[in-house]
Amino acid sequence: MTFSLIRMHAQDNVAVVGQDGGLNAGTVVDGGLRLREAVPQAHKVALEDIAQGAAVRRYNVTIGLAREAIPAGSWVHERLLDLPAAPQLDTLPMATRRAPEMPPLEGHFFEGYRNADGSVGTRNILAITQTVQCVAGVTRHAIERIRRELLPLYPHVDEVVALEHGYGCGVAIDAPGAEIPIRTLRHLAMNPNFGGEIMVVSLGCEKLQPERLLPADAIPLRAEPQAPALDVVCLQDAKHQGFMSMVESILQQARGHLERLERRRRERVPASELVVGVQCGGSDALSGITANPAVGFCTDLLVRAGATVMFSEVTEVRDGVAQLTARAATPEVAQALIEQMAWYDAYLQRGQADRSANTTPGNKKGGLSNIVEKAMGSIVKSGSAAISGVVAPGERARSRGLLYTATPASDFICGTLQLAAGMNLHVFTTGRGTPYGLAEVPVIKVATRDDLARRWHDLMDLNAGPIASGEASIEDKGWELFHLMLEVASGRQRTWAEKWKLHNALVLFNPAPVT
Ligand code: CA
Repeated sequence: MTFSLIRMHAQDNVAVVGQDGGLNAGTVVDGGLRLREAVPQAHKVALEDIAQGAAVRRYNVTIGLAREAIPAGSWVHERLLDLPAAPQLDTLPMATRRAPEMPPLEGHFFEGYRNADGSVGTRNILAITQTVQCVAGVTRHAIERIRRELLPLYPHVDEVVALEHGYGCGVAIDAPGAEIPIRTLRHLAMNPNFGGEIMVVSLGCEKLQPERLLPADAIPLRAEPQAPALDVVCLQDAKHQGFMSMVESILQQARGHLERLERRRRERVPASELVVGVQCGGSDALSGITANPAVGFCTDLLVRAGATVMFSEVTEVRDGVAQLTARAATPEVAQALIEQMAWYDAYLQRGQADRSANTTPGNKKGGLSNIVEKAMGSIVKSGSAAISGVVAPGERARSRGLLYTATPASDFICGTLQLAAGMNLHVFTTGRGTPYGLAEVPVIKVATRDDLARRWHDLMDLNAGPIASGEASIEDKGWELFHLMLEVASGRQRTWAEKWKLHNALVLFNPAPVT
C-alpha cells in the first residue's frame, strides 16, 4: 500500500499526513520518501533536507525558520521552528489583486422572518437585554417562568434568551475602548433574530444607563411605530415591593413583545438575505486542508448569491494581511483593514503579548506549529472574492458581500461580535472538536476529519474529512454546506447545538479598564 502526503503548493518543502492514526517510522510515501520517525495525523513531514535557518514552507508561505538542520523524512513539529517576524503594515499591496470572475448565483431561497429595518431573521426569539450583570439572576428566574408559563401560549416564538454579560458597572465607562462593549450590547439587541423587539432589564444605579445603551436615534424601526421607544424594567423602581414584583414586571413587559413576535411568519426570501459569520476553533492542521477550504468555497457561493459573509479573528489573519489588503475591493477598504491590524498590534503590545500568544496546546497537538501556519489555514474560510468592507469590533455590518469583521480569535468573543454585527447564521469549523453553540443563532459545526465526525456524530453537522482522503472534493463539501445553510436558515433543520441546547455565554470584548 502506498501513502501520500498532502502538499498545499509545489514550492512547499513540507507536506501533511492525512491518514487517521498517522504514519509509522519507515513508511515509504509517494515519491519514495521514507519517514525517519512516526508522524501523527495532521502533522508535517520534511520533503527534502532543510538547512538550519532555512525557510520551512507550507501554502507557499514561510511558516517558520528551521531551528536546526531537518533531514528529509523527519517530523517537522513546533519545536523545530522559529517564528518569522509579522509582516510590516506600511508596505502592503493595496487593492492590487483583481478578484476572479464570479457570475451571480441565482435561484436559491430560504424561509426567513423579514424585519421592519430590512434585515431577515432565521429564528424568532425574544431577547431580554440587560444593562448590567447585577440583574442577571432576577432575569434568569423570570425567563424560566416565561418559558414555562408564557411560551406555550405563543407557538410561533422559538425561545426566550437573556443577553447576559459582565459589563455595565465597575468599569471606566468613558475610557478609550469602552465604546466597544457598549456598542456591542446595543447592536446585540438589534440582531435580526429578535424582530426589533427590544426589552431592557436595568438595575437603576449602574453606570451603563438604559438611555446610554440604547439612545433614541439608535433604536431600529418597529413594525408598529406606536410601541414605546424603549421598554425598560428597572429593578430599583419604587413600585417594586419584593422580588416577586420584579419578576412580575418582567413577565408583564415580555407579554407585549411576545404578542408581536407571535405574529411573525416565515416567508420566502433570496439567499442574499443571509448574513453568515464564519469562525474556526479547536483547529488542527487539517482545518486548512478540508473544512476551511470547503467553507471558503461556500463563502464564494454566498457572495455570488448576493449574501453577506463575515470572517474575523485578527490574530489568525495578521500573518496573511498582505493577501487581504491585496484582495480589498478598494484602497480605502485595504486602509481600513490595516487600521484594524494596527489597533490590535498596539492592544497586544500594551499587554506585552503578540500574535504568537494565539496558538493553543491543542492546535500544536493537531499539527499547527505556530500562528503563521494557523493563519494561512484560517484565512481560506474567506474564499476568493474581493473584500468589500471592514466592520470595527461591536459595529453593525451595513453593506453586503465579503466583510472583514475585526474581532479577537477567542471563540465566544468572536461569536458575540459577529452577532452584534448582524449575523443570522453561524458556521464553525473544528478539528480537535468543540461543542460550541449560541442561543441566539443556529451554529453549523463542520468537522475537519473523519475520526472526529465519527466520535462526535451527534455534535458535528457536516464532515469535511473525506476531502483529506480524496473521497469528496472541496466543491462537493462546499455545495453540501450551502444547501445545509438554506435548510437550517429556514428552520427545516436544526443543528446539533440547537437540539442539545448547547449555549455558550456571550462574552464582551472590553479593551478598557475596569475600576
Ligand atoms: Ca476562533
